[in-house]
Amino acid sequence: MTAVDTALDVVTDALDVPSGLLVGGAWRDATGRRRLDVHDPASGAVLATVADADPADAAAAIDAASAAAPGWAATAPRCRAELLMRVFEEMQARREELALLISLENGKSLADARSEVTYAAEFFRWYAEECVRLRGQLGQSPTGANRLLVSHLPVGVSVLVTPWNFPAAMATRKIAPALAAGCTVVLKPAAETPLTALAVAALLEAAGLPPGVLNVVTTSRPGPVVDAMLTDPRTRMLSFTGSTEVGRLLLRTAADNVLKCAMELGGNAPFVVLADADLEDALSGAMVAKMRNGGQACTAANRFYVQAPVHDAFVAGLVERMAAVQVGPGSDERTECGPLVDEAAVRKVDELVRDAVGRGARAVLGGRPGDGPGSFYPPTVLVDVPADARVLHEEIFGPVAPVVRFEQEDEVLTAVNDTAFGLVSYLYTADLARGLHLAERIESGMVGLNRGLVSDPAAPFGGTKQSGLGREGSTEGLLEFMETQYVATSW
Ligand code: NAD
Repeated sequence: MTAVDTALDVVTDALDVPSGLLVGGAWRDATGRRRLDVHDPASGAVLATVADADPADAAAAIDAASAAAPGWAATAPRCRAELLMRVFEEMQARREELALLISLENGKSLADARSEVTYAAEFFRWYAEECVRLRGQLGQSPTGANRLLVSHLPVGVSVLVTPWNFPAAMATRKIAPALAAGCTVVLKPAAETPLTALAVAALLEAAGLPPGVLNVVTTSRPGPVVDAMLTDPRTRMLSFTGSTEVGRLLLRTAADNVLKCAMELGGNAPFVVLADADLEDALSGAMVAKMRNGGQACTAANRFYVQAPVHDAFVAGLVERMAAVQVGPGSDERTECGPLVDEAAVRKVDELVRDAVGRGARAVLGGRPGDGPGSFYPPTVLVDVPADARVLHEEIFGPVAPVVRFEQEDEVLTAVNDTAFGLVSYLYTADLARGLHLAERIESGMVGLNRGLVSDPAAPFGGTKQSGLGREGSTEGLLEFMETQYVATSW
């Protein structure tokens, strides 16, 4: 038995992580009794197996969510709030075990995994607080003829589809507002990291969630399984986090039943450093924005634009910091950057780096994949990256920092906005007014102004352009799971 197997046994026992499907309050096998292997990205070895659902299981999950919907929508907000708060507290208490589980199946460092658990748990606290404060509106028709009574009602059965890069937070960012709103849900986590989602579901069950309110289907065949749910006339909402490519496919399917859709998609975040910026601050922010999760974040800084007077100093500082990053298995306490999620991810990063170098960029640090075992790619810094290099236009999803030198503000603004994505942008300048003025001209849903991290449960997270539709977190995230109803009346 390896150290990883032992760690997994300890953590799955401590958390009592189930390995079946959660349907109508019962954990059970997939109809076809198939199992799905979960891998350790640091070695490629099989970590565990979980149930592998087919479309019939997905239909059963929608049955359960649909049966539980009227009862859950009718519960008092206070009752929903107290349950969510219990889950927040339990996640806090189980932070270490959950972090180790995330690290084992996803590969990220324990430090990153601990931050993720804290962030993930906060959605339960925030929505526990938020769901008892939701207000409607009372107005008068301009003609004076009647009153306009506006309220928010749960949208109904919601399908939640989540990615592997934040296996806890991407699930709780949807589950918490959906349950707070009074919706019942089916969660389909990513096949790479189902264990964390199952552990979170078990915590919700233990906190007293009624059967059928949360259902979980794990599967190796996401296409047909998600399709079965989206085409079911009882489904009313799709909340998806993942790539723009898959998001586009699901929007097409969702169009048939005109589902409400909240889509958190890919990014291509620019990180702009103006010559007046505090360089130490910018470098610290750059490391957070680039290296959180080893670069595997939709918010990861994907391209660095540095104004000419500070370009060389910034590159020198970045190389020094990137070279000092400790690479290794995520579950090793010393590790700062774990492996990428799988071999395909390493090949994609390698392809982007080769393309850039082929077009004239220089790798001043790293630039080649690790020799294995495990899907490792070392921290890499590229300079003199030409504007047509793919690395500036496609999501890297790895620890690679391409740096571009610029002279004028207008020139960098054009480059920053020259993308189909618009999730987040980072901007460093000592002049706040200049920063705010520029932020307004940057086409992205979020801007980190002298900050390398924007995620906050109380803030509306989301993108413009092909980075998404709708927002998660804040009151906006709750309203995504609600329909507005207006009653015309007079008295
Ligand atoms: P992905 O699109 O491959 O998968 C996301 C989810 O969709 C997974 O659960 C997957 O099983 C499922 N899926 C895949 N193909 C499907 C299909 N044909 N039909 C239905 N479901 C399908 O994305 P990923 O590789 O898991 O995650 C990385 C991507 O997620 C990146 O593009 C990243 O930017 C994005 N992301 C965005 C946010 C955000 O908030 N905007 C947050 C995290 C990740």
